Amino acid sequence: MKTAAASNCKIDKPLCNCGVVGIYNHPEAAVQVYYALHALQHRGQESAGIVASRPSQKHPGERSFAIHKGHGLVLEVFQDSSILSDQLQGNHAIGHNRYSTTGSTVKRANIQPFFINSPTVGHLGLAHNGNLTNAATLRKLLSEEGSIFQTTTDSEIILHLIARSREDNIIDRIRDALRIVRGAYALTLLTDHGLVAARDPHGFRPLSIGKIGDGYIVASETCAFDILQAEYIRDIGHNEIVVIDDETLQTGVIKSLQIDDVRPEARHCIFEYVYFSRPDSKIFGHSVDKVRRKLGKRLAEEAGIKGKTEDEKVVVMGVPDSSNTATLGYSHVNRELNAPNTRHEIGLIRSHYVGRTFISPGQKNREIKVRTKFNAVKGVLKDQKVVVVDDSIVRGTTSKALVNMLRNAGPKELHLRISSPPITHPCLYGMDFPSKEELIANQYDLNIEAIREELGVDTLTYLSVEGLTESAPQEEGINYCTACFTGNYPVQIEEGTKKLEFEEVE
Ligand code: SF4
Repeated sequence: MKTAAASNCKIDKPLCNCGVVGIYNHPEAAVQVYYALHALQHRGQESAGIVASRPSQKHPGERSFAIHKGHGLVLEVFQDSSILSDQLQGNHAIGHNRYSTTGSTVKRANIQPFFINSPTVGHLGLAHNGNLTNAATLRKLLSEEGSIFQTTTDSEIILHLIARSREDNIIDRIRDALRIVRGAYALTLLTDHGLVAARDPHGFRPLSIGKIGDGYIVASETCAFDILQAEYIRDIGHNEIVVIDDETLQTGVIKSLQIDDVRPEARHCIFEYVYFSRPDSKIFGHSVDKVRRKLGKRLAEEAGIKGKTEDEKVVVMGVPDSSNTATLGYSHVNRELNAPNTRHEIGLIRSHYVGRTFISPGQKNREIKVRTKFNAVKGVLKDQKVVVVDDSIVRGTTSKALVNMLRNAGPKELHLRISSPPITHPCLYGMDFPSKEELIANQYDLNIEAIREELGVDTLTYLSVEGLTESAPQEEGINYCTACFTGNYPVQIEEGTKKLEFEEVE
């Protein structure tokens, strides 16, 4: 079955692949997961699903599981609310939403959570955010040894490895499997025994634990806790597996195991702070809002805009919504350091009603697509010295169309400031970027003057790599992945792995 082409009005940004959530011991676990998935909708908009479990009525002492998943936004997948109240009854549940890396359609079997019921592992649901870097090798090996794959995703490999482990209990089986896979994963797993969550040894993707009523919640970002009035406890560490079960409910102790015996240095994804995560979330134990403001402040230190006189007004505006917070930081420091008459203004209005599948009838050009999503506030921009702050530039196509639109509003100067360095490399750890050749920074061989000319602004400056890493929280044993800006990949990808995902379409 083909689904509608996604994101005809897609903004030119990297796409986050997934959000995951798990709830243990709530009378309406699936309903809570549903709301949490709404909060995590920005992490994936093409499909969603929930696996829920409850005590079995037929077999006392055992649990029965139910699953529902489909294409579309959370709202669309669960538009029949009886799915949540009747089909997905139970006190434990996990959920997942995803964006497919093809950007068009996704094989139905690839929609998560995955669910199996086997004599060796029992019931097992799995939701994965990230990308395995040795997927091709493992899939080949497993296939040769008789494993039959139902999907074209790397995530299914984890299920096969768990099923084939020789360990006795499910937790050791999960650890066994996670010692074999490489790359990035933030996982929630629902077993007969309890809720299990894990982050890969480098901890590329975020995952936090909270308390909800008499139970527990784990989620990619804490904005999912806030919607449920859950209380943040802590982040799941890199290289850590946590187990929440009935014993946890009695003792309050969340069991914790290490995946690899030697815990490597963390390599948190720095782009989560730049763009992917919501500013109202805490990730990796830190407020995204604070870090994003710092990025804007540092950008103003590195590339502020002065007025010709003390009185000349400098209008600072962001590209909504992702640049709003960095823009606040920029305008604040620009006022202090460079131009006392710096004003933060709303120069662009974004329509929130343009859906993923919006098509511009009879119009193929990007300008109309951008105009459908954004409009310039002429009264704010006309005859002003304007600084536009954006978080990143990928292909540059949207930036160029936005600049055209802003020029039409008649500013006397238009300066572009980017709160991250030029993107030069694709992500191998769970974010969808265009190919290396499509990135504007590579098309112009990192010649910023040439990019400036192409975009049509008076000046263009990106944040430096040092500015980026120094603005991120500094902690012992914690480092950052900056590979998309530097090409320094903490974990190498094995050949063929990138071709594995989503090669089939229903
Ligand atoms: S390559 Fe970029 S987006 Fe991917 S994990 Fe590293 S910093 Fe994050």
